[in-house]
Amino acid sequence: MKTFLSTITITLMAAATASAALNAAEFPAANVVPPTDSPQVKEWLKAINFTGVPNFPTNTGNPPACPPASSLPADQCWRSCQSCRGDDVVTCPGPGVWGLTFDDGPTTFTPQLLDTLKANNVKATFFVMGSNVVLNPAFLKREQDEGHHIASHTWSHHPLTTLTNEQIVAELKWTEKAVMDVTGLQMKYVRPPYGDIDNRVRAVVKKLGYIIVDWTSDTYDSKDFNLNASPTEAKLAAAVTAFSASLNAYGAAPGDKGIITLEHDLYQVTVDFAKRIIPVATQAKLKIQSIDQCLGDKSPYQNSPPPANNGTGNGAGAGAGTGNGNGTGTGGKNAASTVGAKVVMTVSLAVIAAALSAF
Ligand SMILES: [Zn+2]
Repeated sequence: MKTFLSTITITLMAAATASAALNAAEFPAANVVPPTDSPQVKEWLKAINFTGVPNFPTNTGNPPACPPASSLPADQCWRSCQSCRGDDVVTCPGPGVWGLTFDDGPTTFTPQLLDTLKANNVKATFFVMGSNVVLNPAFLKREQDEGHHIASHTWSHHPLTTLTNEQIVAELKWTEKAVMDVTGLQMKYVRPPYGDIDNRVRAVVKKLGYIIVDWTSDTYDSKDFNLNASPTEAKLAAAVTAFSASLNAYGAAPGDKGIITLEHDLYQVTVDFAKRIIPVATQAKLKIQSIDQCLGDKSPYQNSPPPANNGTGNGAGAGAGTGNGNGTGTGGKNAASTVGAKVVMTVSLAVIAAALSAF
């Protein structure tokens, strides 16, 4: 009798089932900072070595109040109070590029925005809140299915400099789990709520493999968020006119860098704003891209498969200083890795064949 081992690779392109894996009961309460003493968070914390995280104090207030600038050490690099951006991504590399981003979703208004993006044939980056992913998993799935880039905006939208290192981990990892359960994607980019970040927070966020993305400057904050207080057509129209002027001015003299704007898919009025502002790209001669597109990141998730056409070589590293080499997607816990809405399953079968010849 002869025995032999045969490894058969079967690639199944099966549509992932929207939100099937997300069990809302597993997640902490919405919109509050998750506890750090739960078994799940304790497990996450065990895997993190906080060595090298600077010991700047946790701030207070929402948003935090700024102490006298002279009392802050330069190496704290606190964006909210020292206008310090550190190594955060604040521009797109290419001139004339409009990095389009939406924060705080997914919400019941997100599908309208997705319709608009589809009609204009453009992709955006969605910085999603974990609490809202659990509420609206199907809309997150649609973002993935339609080719948009999904990134983190924390679980409860608290200013991160007011949280402990452990609370920051809980905020990011619960959000990461929610997105992973729905899409199979482990996010790699994060935008801190209110842009509130300092070098302590940066260090913790980087321990989790994330790259930080802000918006370029106040000029490119659409301020759409303010429209919701008492929305009127006149205020909406005025906001569209004002932001169009910023985009047109940039388009007239784009310099050597692209811009990253801040908008929200949180309210009806902010989505109405987006519907009117996106077509301005044409008149301003701007090319709209998501953040991964504008950065040219071919591995926009921590568990992205290596780029196609990679042959058999290496080159699976995630890059950008995250320290997260990506797996090869074969074997072990990577036996199932996702590519967009597809699930690629590599199945190794140990086939013990009976003797070919009769005995
Ligand atoms: Zn936000």
